Amino acid sequence: MFVYGPVPSRRLGKSLGVSPIPSKICSYNCIYCQLQKTKKLQIKRESFFPREKIINDLKEFFEKNKADIDYITFVGDGEPTLCNDIGWLIDWCKQHYQIPVAIITNGSILFNKEVRRDLDQSNVIIPSLDAGSEDVFKLINRPHRSINFKDMLQGLVDLRQEYSGKIWLEVMLVDNVNDSNSSLTDIKKAINLIQPDRVYISVPIRPPAEPWVKVPVPEKIIHAHEILGTFRELTDYESGEFGLNSSNDAKSAILNICSRHPLREEQAKEIESRCYLFIKSEMR
Ligand code: SF4
Repeated sequence: MFVYGPVPSRRLGKSLGVSPIPSKICSYNCIYCQLQKTKKLQIKRESFFPREKIINDLKEFFEKNKADIDYITFVGDGEPTLCNDIGWLIDWCKQHYQIPVAIITNGSILFNKEVRRDLDQSNVIIPSLDAGSEDVFKLINRPHRSINFKDMLQGLVDLRQEYSGKIWLEVMLVDNVNDSNSSLTDIKKAINLIQPDRVYISVPIRPPAEPWVKVPVPEKIIHAHEILGTFRELTDYESGEFGLNSSNDAKSAILNICSRHPLREEQAKEIESRCYLFIKSEMR
């Protein structure tokens, strides 16, 4: 399945996820990745799946659900801009549904003009920026060998100049990796060049790829907030209901969401009880 959710998102409200990427193909191998280690580190763009299969999944979702969705979000089990069809898929969504489209990307290949053009029709792009220097970039994001910090940053600067939608930058703060004064000052300089509409600070609250990755202490997060400016923080779990993807079977609903989006125990229990109530109401 390419479509999952809707899931409650701290930034996007009720977000219907679309993953056009096989698990886990990415141009980065971030130390904090919640999807664990990258299986295939690549920069080459590909059509990983027939486009029709992805749009059939979307059609099926909207036929079965009258869900009130805030965003259709291209996210993925890896880096969604590696999908060659992403531009075509965004345009198709815009033509068929009156729902804003968001892209969550690591921003690594925005230096490629074709990638920027592909994202042109989306409403919001949420790129990552976890470093302000080559050394920290390599340490935290562990990019494909052909990606360097300077090109990655230039891609974001070029995006800002060409793109008319919103850019919400996300900085993942990792204890003792990118939260020193000098690292934060470097990140701030990069942000000043990009001029995003919003910047979020995020922390690794979900199980990371590397077990030694830790959330900075609150004092460090506040300090980062001061250095980076007036930012919104993403330092807590999301709240709200997960969609059941037309499923009234708790096991398949939980497995479908879990394969793309981490679930806490209480969230899984809440899904289970909603499936139970659904079955009971159908039996009446
Ligand atoms: S860019 Fe995203 S998917 Fe890729 S390794 Fe980093 S956190 Fe994981």
